[in-house]
Amino acid sequence: MKGKKVIKEKADEQESNLGITANKEDDFSEWYNQAVLRAGLADYSSIKGFMIIKPLGYAIWENIQHKFDQQIKKHGVKNAYFPLLVPESFFKKEAEHAKGFSPEVAWVANRDEDSGERLAIRPTSETIICDSFRKWLRSYRDLPIRVNQWCNIVRWEIKMTKLFIRTREFLWQEGHCIYETSEEAERETMLYLNEYKSLLEEELAIPVLSGKKTESEKFAGAVYTLTTEALMPDGRALQTATSHYLGQDFMKVFDVEFLGKDKKKHTPHYISWGMTTRLIGAIVMVHGDNKGLVLPPRIAPQQIVIVPILFGDEKKDSPVLAEAEKIRKELEHEFRVEIDSRTEYSAGWKFNEWEMKGIPLRIEIGPRDILKGECVLAKRNTGEKITAKASGIREKVKDTLKDIQKEMFEKAKKFLTSNIENVSSMRELKEAIAKKKLARAAFCGSPKCEEKIREEVEGITTRLIPFDEKPARGAKCIRCGKEAKELVYFAKNY
Ligand SMILES: [Zn+2]
Repeated sequence: MKGKKVIKEKADEQESNLGITANKEDDFSEWYNQAVLRAGLADYSSIKGFMIIKPLGYAIWENIQHKFDQQIKKHGVKNAYFPLLVPESFFKKEAEHAKGFSPEVAWVANRDEDSGERLAIRPTSETIICDSFRKWLRSYRDLPIRVNQWCNIVRWEIKMTKLFIRTREFLWQEGHCIYETSEEAERETMLYLNEYKSLLEEELAIPVLSGKKTESEKFAGAVYTLTTEALMPDGRALQTATSHYLGQDFMKVFDVEFLGKDKKKHTPHYISWGMTTRLIGAIVMVHGDNKGLVLPPRIAPQQIVIVPILFGDEKKDSPVLAEAEKIRKELEHEFRVEIDSRTEYSAGWKFNEWEMKGIPLRIEIGPRDILKGECVLAKRNTGEKITAKASGIREKVKDTLKDIQKEMFEKAKKFLTSNIENVSSMRELKEAIAKKKLARAAFCGSPKCEEKIREEVEGITTRLIPFDEKPARGAKCIRCGKEAKELVYFAKNY
């Protein structure tokens, strides 16, 4: 069924350049698929579960990469690259890790010639990087070691494909760092989580909650996992980034040791942290509307499109084109700007196309505007049109892009905060989840109790234990009634 639908989608795509026909409010899932396909962010692959990231989608990823890469380099992180394949024995070393990842590992048919071992395509690279740490680390003087790699990973999940959100292969970055002390390691586990929060909120205009995962939701092999979670318009939470404090287990099983100042052997403390191309899916979901994408100016590959309004014979050698070109030149040093001077399409057709692709700001300029020395700025996020003097255009554009970024964040923030509901009974929890809310409840912290909640409320998951909110004095666990240790956010998730 699904396969047929996809093929039909592609055929429609080729036949016409229709806008999005699904309504975001009524059929969110179909709306999302159409927005991604028709804006040209990505496409389905001939291999089930895999995706093709098209130039617009990849350009957004490059901008995310660039912003995040600059930040982590300030903390002394250096980029490196490790092999795609992981020997089976590496997985087996850390028992919890092996158990957690084995159901979704893809094995290659060829074996390692020397050891005869099976080889897996990396679902994550802790084991292969720890093997290198063992070779690199000698003394305390070598610490800390902070490496990051930008790469692809494969997790052979059998779930339904959803472009950017659920695919068997995706792109990500994974940071891996080792330290002399647990204090330093834990401090930096939080540092990278905060970098993700800044990236999401300041660049992507996506507000997030941050906190700790419960025991049953933490990364396989971690002491604990920190997470940032965003709320999607359909009431599902999306895990946007994670940072894991891995303690010393991986270090011990991979014999990673160093000679301390005391001339004795010590075991370092390990952390890893990552975010993926699913952030592009989050941008689409959070900001998009029924016309298509709405890209935050700070991350948009193209921030401004200038559309000259041309009539009849004026299409070539027109004063409107010359003025539009003048404006482009004035803006190009500071902004990512393009001019759409195609003559085979009407202005209205062009407006629709750029709106579908989510370009934050459109500048319209026509013959009458020239006479008045003006042009019109159209904001993608609100549809608002502003008349601006062509002479002071650079300042006006700068302010408007800033406003758009801020308005997009504030709108998303309002959505998040207005959809958090405090619940104090299982009945209220079920109701809140049915109403597509993010439910906040007092919880005892027991994995068994969490399991029971999952059994009783279909599709529910614990998203996080917030850092800065504690249960009221004397509060009882929502399920078992025992003394609450923490507050937990519950939601369905992607
Ligand atoms: Zn309980």
